[in-house]
Amino acid sequence: MTIIDILPTRARLSRMGITTTVSCVLCTDSNESRSHLFDNCSTATSLWKAILTLNHLSKLHMSWDEMLSWASSSWKGKSLLTSILKIAWCSFIYTIWEERNRRIFQGRARTIEELLSSIKDIVGAQLSNRDLNRMDHVNSLLCNNWGIG
Ligand SMILES: [Zn+2]
Repeated sequence: MTIIDILPTRARLSRMGITTTVSCVLCTDSNESRSHLFDNCSTATSLWKAILTLNHLSKLHMSWDEMLSWASSSWKGKSLLTSILKIAWCSFIYTIWEERNRRIFQGRARTIEELLSSIKDIVGAQLSNRDLNRMDHVNSLLCNNWGIG
């Protein structure tokens, strides 16, 4: 069981009779469920795409399961790119969930750019003291894109 299996998505709450509305608060279409939120929510998808772009990666749309299998087969070693992907992925999940709750409980919404910038802050803060070979072309591009000081 992963954290995603226990998240109280609104579809799940609705089945228990807790909420009345089930459209996704992030993109306002589709019913919110675990698979919608992380597989085909347009807001989540655009945000993840923006993260990949900062890493100079582009990927066809991946389902949650495809994403996990890409991560476990490719995110190995200690390269800066791998570290960024791992931190960004965790921050992405956290940020999507936080944003969903903020919209539901506080009625406040941030744009995708604002969400991306909060993810960049987390990545930048976690990697700012790391020893890096900044002469490396890829590393220097990544530091620049992510604001790693
Ligand atoms: Zn959505």
